[in-house]
Amino acid sequence: MNSMYFTEEHELFRKSLKDFLVKEVVPHIDKWEETGTVERFIWKKMGEMGFFGLAYPEEYGGLDLDIFYTVIFLEELQKINSGGFAANMWAHAYLAMTHLNKEGNKEIKEKYLAPSITGEKIGCLCITEPFGGSDVSGMRTTAVKKGDIYIINGSKTFITNGVYSDYLVVAAKTSPELGNRGMSIFVIDRDTTGISATKLDKLGWRASDTGEIAFDNVVIPAGNLMGEENKGFGYIMQHFSLERLVMAVNAHAQSEFALEYAIQYMKDRQAFGRSISEFQALRHSVAQMASEIEVCKTYNYNTAKRLDNDEYVVKEATMAKLTSTKMADDVIYECLQLLGGYGYMEDYPLARMFRDSRLGPIGGGTSEILREILAKIIIDNKEYKSAT
Ligand SMILES: Cc1cc2nc3c(=O)[nH]c(=O)nc-3n(C[C@H](O)[C@H](O)[C@H](O)COP(=O)(O)OP(=O)(O)OC[C@H]3O[C@@H](n4cnc5c(N)ncnc54)[C@H](O)[C@@H]3O)c2cc1C
Repeated sequence: MNSMYFTEEHELFRKSLKDFLVKEVVPHIDKWEETGTVERFIWKKMGEMGFFGLAYPEEYGGLDLDIFYTVIFLEELQKINSGGFAANMWAHAYLAMTHLNKEGNKEIKEKYLAPSITGEKIGCLCITEPFGGSDVSGMRTTAVKKGDIYIINGSKTFITNGVYSDYLVVAAKTSPELGNRGMSIFVIDRDTTGISATKLDKLGWRASDTGEIAFDNVVIPAGNLMGEENKGFGYIMQHFSLERLVMAVNAHAQSEFALEYAIQYMKDRQAFGRSISEFQALRHSVAQMASEIEVCKTYNYNTAKRLDNDEYVVKEATMAKLTSTKMADDVIYECLQLLGGYGYMEDYPLARMFRDSRLGPIGGGTSEILREILAKIIIDNKEYKSAT
């Protein structure tokens, strides 16, 4: 336990979450990886256990706990080896629900946030579009206001929980002529006429539901606008700090799990009459990986602490995701190597981890885009101002 960040209470929570995952989730993971669908019952159970409400107000059924409960939630989800299951859970709890909590009014929170905390409603966050994800301001989906309704047209792609969720948090242009200053955020019920979704097949995160969504003259009440009209880009950018931190924590936890597994394997595996953990080349590789994981983990905890103190950590969260996801990609690649041919087999955990970790440097802002943001901060002294 790192006592700078975690208390006894945190560790008790970690234990109960771990026990829950082993008992209730792990027995189903292989099936969900195959079908690409996480069954509804587990969402309800996770909700009943309070796992979706860790960061949310008590008024709506949440627990309003500090960020290290969220860190534990993310870490333990990575340690059951299904990036896809984890993604379904954190995309609901920390992508969709963050917008509901920060920009939704009381009515929206009662209708969507409260049942999201109990696991009765599942959400997704729809920003990326088929014609471009990195260039958020270039999005083409529009929301046209007519009296007390908006009419939404356009499409989104690569959306986690995009097919099976009950509601969608959607970014759309309300004043297209204003570019990124003309974007707004809406919450939309899945069963609204004009919404269709197609499930996408993908390399990893196979238990997660990733969808392409079309909006064809979708009519929603004007009250489904979240926050102020045309402020959407600022809200998205602001929450990117949390999203990047989430992905950074996922990356260090995933790597830790991979390395622990590889070390145990090395101790058990014999070659040339001794355990392969005695070969210096492999020992040094482990030492290097352990160092890199530890450095990323400590930096991620520090960034989490600062975010929890309401500091604006765009730079730090961006650095955390950029560095940790690259580190995880490299560590998992190397851990697979340490298992030799067994690393390549589906019966061993590294094959799935290898597929899953590849998404780290792509989703939630590619590494190229993160370097671009950091270059602007570092070289041009650009400030990314808080939206609220
Ligand atoms: C499994 C999965 C789940 C996802 N879940 C969600 C979700 O829930 N919600 C959501 O909104 N999105 C989601 N995404 C989308 C993800 O965030 C985007 O894929 C990502 O932002 C990249 O956008 P793109 O795929 O359109 O790539 P593009 O923007 O087309 O980029 C293609 C390549 O060009 C590079 N590039 C682009 N612009 C520049 C530049 N200015 N300088 C240098 N290089 C550049 C990129 O780095 C990349 O290498 C998900 C994606 C995947 C694969």
